[in-house]
Amino acid sequence: MAESTFDVVVVGGGPGGYVCAIRAAQLGFKVACVEKRGTLGGTCLNVGCIPSKALLAASEKFEEAAHGLAKFGIKVGGVELDLPGMLSHKDKVVKDNVGGIEFLFKKNKVTWLKGAGKITAANTVEVEGVGTVTASKAIVIATGSEVTPLPGIAIDEKRVVSSTGALDLAEVPKHLVVIGGGVIGLELGSVWGRLGAKVTVVEFLDRVLPTMDGELSKQAQRIFAKQGMDFKLSTKVTGATVTETGVTLMVEPAAGGAAQTIEADTVLVAIGRRPYTEGLGLEAVGVELDRGRVKIDGHFQSSVPGIYAIGDVVVGPMLAHKAEEEGVALAEQLAGQKSHVNHDLVPGVVYTWPEVAAVGKTEEQLKAAGVAYKAGKFPFTANGRARASATTDGFVKILSDAATDQVLGVHMIGPNVSEMIGELVLAMEFSASAEDIARTCHAHPTLSEAVKEAALAVDGRPLHI
Ligand code: FAD
Ligand code: NAD
Repeated sequence: MAESTFDVVVVGGGPGGYVCAIRAAQLGFKVACVEKRGTLGGTCLNVGCIPSKALLAASEKFEEAAHGLAKFGIKVGGVELDLPGMLSHKDKVVKDNVGGIEFLFKKNKVTWLKGAGKITAANTVEVEGVGTVTASKAIVIATGSEVTPLPGIAIDEKRVVSSTGALDLAEVPKHLVVIGGGVIGLELGSVWGRLGAKVTVVEFLDRVLPTMDGELSKQAQRIFAKQGMDFKLSTKVTGATVTETGVTLMVEPAAGGAAQTIEADTVLVAIGRRPYTEGLGLEAVGVELDRGRVKIDGHFQSSVPGIYAIGDVVVGPMLAHKAEEEGVALAEQLAGQKSHVNHDLVPGVVYTWPEVAAVGKTEEQLKAAGVAYKAGKFPFTANGRARASATTDGFVKILSDAATDQVLGVHMIGPNVSEMIGELVLAMEFSASAEDIARTCHAHPTLSEAVKEAALAVDGRPLHI
């Protein structure tokens, strides 16, 4: 290794780590990023956001070609799935994206140290196969997260898979049972459901997407059930027997009661992710953890001065854009700037069809906090563009403060809401009122007119319903 002394050494090359490294380099620091995977981009680019969206896009096109075009007056015959071709599309997207990060590292003169990093002192990282590197300014822990295992159900990535295995199944299962009705369960359940699998979602709680607004999760479940997904809510999995050909799952009501079995070809375990710090040597250097997460102060600094942490490995939603924002803010703070992340306004999106997108407080949270609020709701059935595209499932709901009209939360399910949520995050960053949105000219005909109408509905005066 030519260089062994850097200003900033980032451990982990995912969205938190690679973005922090690039921003720190832009600010004039000499930066190294330690990544043990053969490629950069972390969970998100390799086995998370990007491959799952590639399969969601491809499976959506397959389903539309097979079943969704007749209503537009288009007859298509002989639509066939070429699963290896679809998986190659996904692999190519991943390859191009991870290669893109390597290019950005070169462009910004970030040194990629290929190997597992272990922190041996407040300013020293031992990189397997590379040697010892020193960080004169900061070490940044950005080691991300890993799949939360389900006791009693061993993941073999063949019959019982995690999200990683579910991105690479060699054939479409006849029956896919998903344990966990969260984001991964619904996204990857949708992929394989569209490709022909019968999908059953087993969820411990009494609703899917349990952290989202209650009305949103109810509507989502209704729509996915209409698409053919089966839901076993308030149900716990107690065990599994795996054979060459399938899996027998033992389930029972979460509150206790008669046990049942479910036969599956493939089981996807998607009950959450947990922070990953294995082999980092944190205990020896005195970095404190809180339920597995690296404990940080308001400036991302751990209990050891000079060692910082960002992304999935710290508190907050395990989302790529949250990790990226933290990476930028930390790099800028190290350069003496006053950057911060508004953790109250991190949007959450589920890339199913229809999509689900939300930012800010849910109705349940506002009620629990005793905040008086007004709600305005507008259905996509009354939106001209949604009708023209035959995608009218869903609604936009805006919650605003009863006294000041400031927008407190927005909850949407519908076509392309993943792209529409940005307007609302921006509005909320500027403390907009519902009236501000209602008085903003939205192009016609667009799906985002539903946002304007929901804002008008807050004041009881929608125009098109
Ligand atoms: P990671 O991306 O996990 O990166 C950490 C990196 O650190 C890894 O590459 C790992 O190899 C490396 N590492 C760990 N320890 C060491 C060590 N000791 N030495 C060297 N390297 C090490 N989020 C979204 O916002 N949108 C989505 O659509 C989305 N979809 C997802 C789909 C799936 C199937 C999954 C699993 C996750 C998805 N996520 C999504 C979540 C997203 O992937 C994570 O929030 C994000 O990757 C976190 O970034 P990070 O940088 O904190 O960690
Ligand atoms: P999740 O937290 O979204 O959902 C897990 C679900 O499993 C919850 O509904 C929970 O109640 C349920 N559950 C927990 N234990 C259970 C059990 N024993 N039996 C049955 N159900 C159980 O987690 P995930 O879907 O695994 O996703 C992991 C992380 O990855 C999330 O933090 C998510 O933010 C991130 N992710 C994000 C996206 C996105 O932004 N579109 C996509 C995929 C993953």
